[in-house]
Amino acid sequence: MHHPPLIVWFIVALFGLCLGSFLNVVITRLPVMLMRHWRREAQAALELAHEHSPAFNLATPGSLCPRCETAIAWHDNIPLVGWLKRGGRCAACNTRISIQYPLVELVGGLLAVAVLALHGPTLEALSIYSACLVLLALAVIDFRTQLLPDVLTLPLLWAGLLFQLLFQPLMLSDAVIGVIVGYLSLWSFYWLFKLTTGKEGMGFGDFKLLAALGAWLGWSFLPLILILSAGLGAMVGLTAQAFAPRLRGKPLPFGPFLALAGWIALLVGDELMALYLSLLI
Ligand SMILES: [Zn+2]
Repeated sequence: MHHPPLIVWFIVALFGLCLGSFLNVVITRLPVMLMRHWRREAQAALELAHEHSPAFNLATPGSLCPRCETAIAWHDNIPLVGWLKRGGRCAACNTRISIQYPLVELVGGLLAVAVLALHGPTLEALSIYSACLVLLALAVIDFRTQLLPDVLTLPLLWAGLLFQLLFQPLMLSDAVIGVIVGYLSLWSFYWLFKLTTGKEGMGFGDFKLLAALGAWLGWSFLPLILILSAGLGAMVGLTAQAFAPRLRGKPLPFGPFLALAGWIALLVGDELMALYLSLLI
C-alpha cells in the first residue's frame, strides 16, 4: 500500500470523477457516432443522397438532457454533485436522468483512488488506470448496446503491448502469446458453440477484448480471467432470472464481465494469482 499526502488523494479522486464524467459522454455518444458513420458509408456505397445532420461528436454539442435536449448548466454538470443536487432529474423537464451518469463518475473516482493505493503515484499506475477506464467504457457500452467497438478494443490491445515494452520488457513475449491465445480461445469456443447449438454465444468484440486483456496481463492470467468472468456472469444471470422473470431467455452480454475480471486482475492480480495457485495445489 502507498501513503501519499491527503491532498494527493483528494486531487486524484476529483480527477477520476471528472474523467468518469467524460467517459459518460463517450459511452452515450460513441455508439451513435458509429451508427451514423455506418449509415453514411452504406448510403455512399449505394450512391444514395447523404443526410445532412448537425455536428455530433465527443466535443459538440455540449451536455444535453437526453429527453428535452435543453443544455445542462455547468453547475448541474459537476460530476456526482450535479446529479445529486437535482435529485436525478432534468432541471428543465424534470425527466429522470439515468443513474448510469453518477455511477460511472463514482467508479471513475474509485478506480483512480484504488490504482493510486495499490500501484503508487507512477507512470505505470497512470497507464493501468487508463486501461481500467477504457474497460469501464466498454463494459457500459456493451451493456447498453451489445457492442464492443473496435475503436476501443484495438487501441487497448496495442496500448497493452506498449505498456509491456516500456515497463516490463521481459513480459513482452508472454503478452504477445496472451493476445493470440486470448483471441483464439474465445474464437474456438464461439465456433464450437455455434456448430453444436446453432446459436451465437458471444460476439467478435469479446475475442478482441480478451486479446487486449492478454496483452496487459500476459497469457498466464487468461484462465483466471475466464473463470472469474464466467463465474460472475453466471451469478448475475441466475440472480437476474430469479428476480426479473422478463429477462428470462434474454442473452446477457459477456463484455461487462470480462471487463470486471480485467479490473480485478489489473488491480490485485498478483495476490489473486497466488491464491489461485494455492487452491490448485
Ligand atoms: Zn430535460
